[in-house]
Amino acid sequence: MTVSRAPTVTKAVPRLDPRALREEFPAFARRGRDGRAVAYLDSAATTQKPRAVLAAVREFYEQHYGAIARGVYLLSAEATGLYEAARGKVAHFLGAAAAEEIVFVRGTTEAINLVAASWGRANLGAGDEILLTGLEHHSNIVPWQLAAAAAGARIVVAPLDGRGDVPLEGVERALASGRVRMVAVAHVSNALGTLLPVARIAELAHEAGALVLVDGAQSAPRMPVDVAALGCDFFAFSGHKTYGPNGIGVLWGRRGLLAAMPPYQGGGGMIERVSFEGTTYAPPPQRFEAGTPAGPEAHGLGAALDWLSAKDRTAVHAHESALLATACAKLSALDGVRLVGTPRERVGAVSFVVEGAHAHDVGTVLDAEGVAVRAGHHCAQPSMAHFGVAATVRASFGVHNDEDDVERLAVAVGKAARLFAR
Ligand code: PMP
Repeated sequence: MTVSRAPTVTKAVPRLDPRALREEFPAFARRGRDGRAVAYLDSAATTQKPRAVLAAVREFYEQHYGAIARGVYLLSAEATGLYEAARGKVAHFLGAAAAEEIVFVRGTTEAINLVAASWGRANLGAGDEILLTGLEHHSNIVPWQLAAAAAGARIVVAPLDGRGDVPLEGVERALASGRVRMVAVAHVSNALGTLLPVARIAELAHEAGALVLVDGAQSAPRMPVDVAALGCDFFAFSGHKTYGPNGIGVLWGRRGLLAAMPPYQGGGGMIERVSFEGTTYAPPPQRFEAGTPAGPEAHGLGAALDWLSAKDRTAVHAHESALLATACAKLSALDGVRLVGTPRERVGAVSFVVEGAHAHDVGTVLDAEGVAVRAGHHCAQPSMAHFGVAATVRASFGVHNDEDDVERLAVAVGKAARLFAR
């Protein structure tokens, strides 16, 4: 079986010290069911939180808590300042041209729903096409289905190949219709670990007159991301997968595109003037942030991005890729274990099945060994269907994982494979 290679680590890339990093996470003081420290291999679902992030959220509540953009008193002004400072940090993290291009949302799901609903309402018509790929998360499928149904548009799909890659010919073939208005594509698949060539896809899409939304839920925590270099038009990611708080996420959009989009939700904070005769709307990003902003969450996200960036995101990528390569080699060497998806470039996660066992049963055996993985369809049922499985076990990596975690995974999966062997 072909196993994805780790990228070559040059001397210029600093090395992470996962053991020291683990000490920064209070959650890793917990023991697993086997009495040992938990081998946490579910960062693709959600990341544990380092002390720096927990402290930032606490500091906001204890020292600077007040209504954001709605008060004239000191605490309100401080809360507003921190919220806007977090927006600036996100802009820097993504290489955005301006903080005004950053919209705070609840997560990747809401970011994609926002674009599908708002941009879709203004721009999609009967006969238009939205191009997705075969490996998308349900969050990057269902919002487009809703938008397509409302507009009389159609979803078209660039298919997966046998390895779980998306060949560019499929993208080109779909774009050749001349009717594709939006290409919505994951940067990294949460289910298969596939890294997609989104910069090239963006070039092809733009040549065909389509816009590009990148679902960056899995790439933002794991590799350098620069929206200018990617050449996309929208980029979405979630705070809780990026070592930040839950309930906060980001939509980046090109300033001109956001400015031309109608509101997504109506409410306080997104207006210029309201009367019963009619309402005018604030410019972006406020136009898309109806309701009381999530200040502590945004501040915590800013702290998480500072914390992650201080590790050098190239080093994070190299570290996790090396662990993944070892995990793939060890798992594929086990009798009765089959990797699901063997993409040419893999980031963050590996999916596998144990012959004769349901993924949930394997997950339970692993849990008894103190190994935390995800078992299920990973909200990517079309990718599961492509490989003819209902579910897989997925191990995914974070900055705090080390070779020990990989070894514990391999030992526990080996045990499960022997247990379920017929
Ligand atoms: N896209 C991808 C690739 C994901 O992995 C996830 C989370 N599993 C999402 C979108 C949705 O993210 P959230 O649930 O944080 O909105």
